[in-house]
Amino acid sequence: MKCLATMLVAGSCFLGAFSYAEDVPAAGEKTIALVAVGDIDADTMSAVRQFAEENVFFQVRLLPALTPTGGSLDQEGVAAAQAMNANDAFVVALVMPKDEIKAHGVYLPEARVAVVNAAVMKPEDGNMELYRRRLQRQAVRSIGMLIGLEPCPNPQCCMSSYQNVDEMDRIGMNFCPPCWDREEKIGKAKGFKAIVLGGVE
Ligand SMILES: [Zn+2]
Repeated sequence: MKCLATMLVAGSCFLGAFSYAEDVPAAGEKTIALVAVGDIDADTMSAVRQFAEENVFFQVRLLPALTPTGGSLDQEGVAAAQAMNANDAFVVALVMPKDEIKAHGVYLPEARVAVVNAAVMKPEDGNMELYRRRLQRQAVRSIGMLIGLEPCPNPQCCMSSYQNVDEMDRIGMNFCPPCWDREEKIGKAKGFKAIVLGGVE
């Protein structure tokens, strides 16, 4: 009898552990986080998230918006990195700094964050469509950098270098075929969660 009781206890412990394990995300499957720091409207963030996901083919999840710290872009980036969960490989932070900062962004691989200065992406004439396109390009470009792509010589590619806003507006919105190929290979090797686009096979 004593033996049977022990077995029952062991059995229920096993079941308990098993049902707990089901709630834990798949081991090793990585996601990409995107976050607004400061005043960037929800529709724009949603459009940036969707565009990024459709162009990197790995899951991009939007984190709840954060309040700017009021520090440098580096400080905003380090603060945004705290919002990642255990599955997020890195985070792209679109930051609306409290004070004027001219740099387009910073790339902090050790903190696993790329910061885009959303304030300098806003056209002076208030063209919201251009603003959105710029943020979408910078998000894909940031993911490319964080995943390990190098600058690309092809001006049709979003990984192409640029010197000013006019040049930035002329480079491609997404990866050229070789960069896309590299991004996909690295992402798959590192265990990023692949997405399947609706209706596209
Ligand atoms: Zn390229």
